[in-house]
This record gives sequence, C-alpha cells and structure tokens, in this order.
Amino acid sequence: MTTTLSHYIGGAFTGAGDALESRNPSDTSDIVARFPQGDTATVDAAVAAAAGAQKAWADASPEVRADLLEKIAQALFARSVEVGELLAREEGKLRGEGIGETLRAARIFRYFAGEALRRHGLTLESTRPGLDVATHREAIGPVGLITPWNFPIAIPAWKAAPALAFGNTVVLAPSNETPAMAHVLAEIIHEAGMPAGVFNMVLGGGEAGAALVNHSDIAAISFTGSQGTGAKVLQGATATHKRVQLEMGGKNPLVVCADADLDKAVAIAADGGFFQTGQRCTASSRVIVEAAIHDAFVEKLAAKARSLKVGGALDEGTQVGPANSQRQLEQNFRYVGIACEEGGRLATGATEPDTDASGYFMQPTVIADTAPDMRINNEEVFGPVVSTVRVADYDEALDVANRGNFGLSAGIVTTNLAKARDFRKNVRAGMVMINLPTAGVDYHVPFGGTRGSSYGPREQGFAAVDFYTQIKTVYTGD
Ligand code: NAD
Repeated sequence: MTTTLSHYIGGAFTGAGDALESRNPSDTSDIVARFPQGDTATVDAAVAAAAGAQKAWADASPEVRADLLEKIAQALFARSVEVGELLAREEGKLRGEGIGETLRAARIFRYFAGEALRRHGLTLESTRPGLDVATHREAIGPVGLITPWNFPIAIPAWKAAPALAFGNTVVLAPSNETPAMAHVLAEIIHEAGMPAGVFNMVLGGGEAGAALVNHSDIAAISFTGSQGTGAKVLQGATATHKRVQLEMGGKNPLVVCADADLDKAVAIAADGGFFQTGQRCTASSRVIVEAAIHDAFVEKLAAKARSLKVGGALDEGTQVGPANSQRQLEQNFRYVGIACEEGGRLATGATEPDTDASGYFMQPTVIADTAPDMRINNEEVFGPVVSTVRVADYDEALDVANRGNFGLSAGIVTTNLAKARDFRKNVRAGMVMINLPTAGVDYHVPFGGTRGSSYGPREQGFAAVDFYTQIKTVYTGD
C-alpha cells in the first residue's frame, strides 16, 4: 500500500502532496509513500509555528514535558513491530533491526522524559560579599533538526527527545529516502497530545533543510549526514550565527592484532563491516591486520562474507539487506572498482546475489592488501565493503588507524591489555571499542567523533543538555 504524506505544522497534518516518492529498496516496484516537496514558504510556516509555541513550552513545568515524552515512548513501545516493519520496508534494514531501532527510539524518549526533570544549574559563592551567583540552564529557542536515512527513527528521536525535554520547540527536516518513518514519528507525537507548534516536520529533504539552516528565527541546527552536506550546513548556520552541531561520516578502523583470537576477530569484523548492509556511520570499514595473521584473517573473513544470505529486508533468513537506493548501490560498486584499480585485491564479493527480487543487492565484499593512502581507505563508501591493510606490528597499525580525515569510532581486537590500553589513549577517535565492532552504541552516553567526523558538542545521553540549553549566570544582591 502506498501512503500519501503531509508536512506537520502547527499541530496539523497539512499540504499533502505527491511530488516525491520513496520506494522499498528490497522491491523497487513497491512505492512506500508519496510526499510533498517542502519549500522556503513551508519552512517559514513551520518555523513561525515553532517560534509561536516556544515561550509556553519553555515555561511549562518539566513534569508536563516529562509526561509527554513518556507517552511518546510508550506509543513507540506499543507499535514497535508495525513501525519496525515499515522501517525495514522503507530503509532496507532487516525486520529485527527495524524493530530494534524502534525500541531504541522508545527508550531514548523514556530516558529524556527523566532528563527533563534533571536540568539543573549551580549555585556558587560570589567573590563579592553579599551577592549570590547561580547558573540556570535555559532553552535556546526553536531548533532545526536535519536527519539522514540510515537511522530514520532513532536519529530523529535522539535529537528531538532532548530538544523537547529541555524546553525547545522543533522543526524536523528528514531525509527524502525515509519520509514515511518521519511521518510515523510525527503521528505518534501528535497523538500523545503535544501542544500545537512544539514539534513540526517539513518533508522535502535538502531544500527544506537548507531553508531551515538559513532561517533567522531558528536558533540552532543539529545535523547528521555526510561530510559534504555538513560543510554546507556549517557555512549557512555560522553565517546566520546559529549554534550548530554536525555528526558526519566515518572510515572507522578496526585493528586486529596478531595475538587476537582469529575467529573472534572475524566475527567482530563481519558484524562491524557487513551488518545493516554497512550503512552505519560507525561501520568497521577498514581493517588493519598484523602481517603474521593477515592472510588467514582475510581468508576467513571472505568465507564469512560469502556465507551471508543477502536478500529482502523482510524475508525470513536474510542476513544482509539491500543498499538503500540505486545511487548508494552504484556508489558501492564504484568504490570496489576504484580500490581494485588502485591496487587492492578483490578477495570476495562485488557481485549481485542470485535473487529474483528487484532490490539494490550486493554480496558483502572484502578488498585485501590495500594501502593506507588509497581512496578506499580515506572516503566513506557506506556499503558492505571492507578493505584490509597489512601492517608489520601494533605501532604501524596505530599509525594507519590515525590517518585520514575521519575520527568517529575505532576498534581493536587483542588479548594484550597493554595494547588495548595504549590504543584507547592514543587513537584519534571519539569512540573506542575494545574487542567489539566499531558499531553498536548505548543511548545514555555521549556519541560523536573527532576531526572531520563531528563538529560541535556531543550528542546523546547526559551530554545532550549542553547543546539544547544555554547557560544564564544570575547575580543577586540584597
Ligand atoms: P546527506 O548528507 O546526503 O543528507 C543528510 C540530510 O541533509 C538529509 O536530510 C538531506 O535532505 C539534508 N540535506 C541535503 N542537502 C542539504 C543542504 N544543502 N542543507 C541542509 N540540509 C541538506 O546524508 P545521507 O545520505 O542522508 O546519510 C548518510 C550519511 O550520514 C553518511 O555519511 C553517514 O556516515 C552519515 N551518518 C552519520 C551519523 C553520525 O552520527 N555520525 C549517523 C548516521 C549517518
């Protein structure tokens, strides 16, 4: 069934349209949704609604905000199967992963329902006798949220929940690849009884996002997406003096030491590199392996890649779903070609699996013996493509891990505590995983990277309050 979607502005679903469509990447004959192209006027209306609702929302008791967030969480829990299946149909994650992501969104709302009550300031002794000095955390005003397609409910949740909890009104501009998921979130927020104008959503992707970035009544922009788009968002946001937070891509290294358990290392690399079709910013896309075990590791990882069943996201037994779009699939194959032209060895993959389904499928791929400066090790592919780099020892592995312009997540597989400790201290990344895939994070702790992967304050967990509030310092005399 194809649904026709609308924007959500000022508490009403409005401006239904069919200028754009989203398709099921597992079966391209299935049109999931038709939806309107939001433009500057649509964004103006959404921002006006958000600005109009800002004061009352910021002034509301934190208990009001906590109760509403809790209701949203409960609705997501209750609808997790239906919403998770829609996610699998529209984005291409496996059914279990879609349900898991929906449950994660529910837990994020539940977590921030509690955080709404914990927004606290400090009281200090003034340096001047007879004065009191205190800091208060206040909402920053309407915030614009721009989100990608690869976590189409978790990312809107991990931005919207803290924004709302701390008293900000919101305009969300979701990706054009997953509008139905954003629409479901808006429906749930509406049904929870959110006051009109507090949460708004404009469909239409980049055009809506850019209008939001340039709007003078938006106080802050939280963006997740590619480095290229992030650079444009940063330019627009700073030109209009907005607070800005960017979460961008990764080229996450996984170091495999010669002392590692080989089967464990292969399982970690396969999980980090191939699951969710490699479409995670934290995917383990370059694996740096000590020479003593490199060939044995590649052989086992290639065998694992060949054994994985690629197919429709909602099909029983599928282990790796489709790329999200034709463009993404073409990009995956293009990078395999580039890597081989530059001297990499195709160990397995880069084939379309044997399936009748009309989806964007690619067998998980391993490219061995790549050099650190090749494009495959410096540019994000965002597909089930893992490159390996052979290094002499741990010191060279660390050096290779630290190259390039990304610094999101980095992992090491080792049985040597000293190496694990050294890696934790010296790797240039925002998140470090020891004997774990580079992907897979908790929602109650900060998330983010270094260098070209992130810009601005951390997202998520106890760190989110820093971005979504501003500090007012208050002096009181007698
Ligand atoms: P993208 O950069 O193409 O788009 C991201 C969002 O920006 C979309 O909503 C898009 O409509 C919007 N947009 C496009 N042009 C814009 C403009 N000029 N101004 C404002 N907004 C604009 O990214 P994508 O393909 O949707 O997502 C994949 C990327 O996201 C990958 O690079 C991935 O690594 C990254 N990502 C990062 C994280 C993280 O937290 N670090 C998490 C998930 C995904």
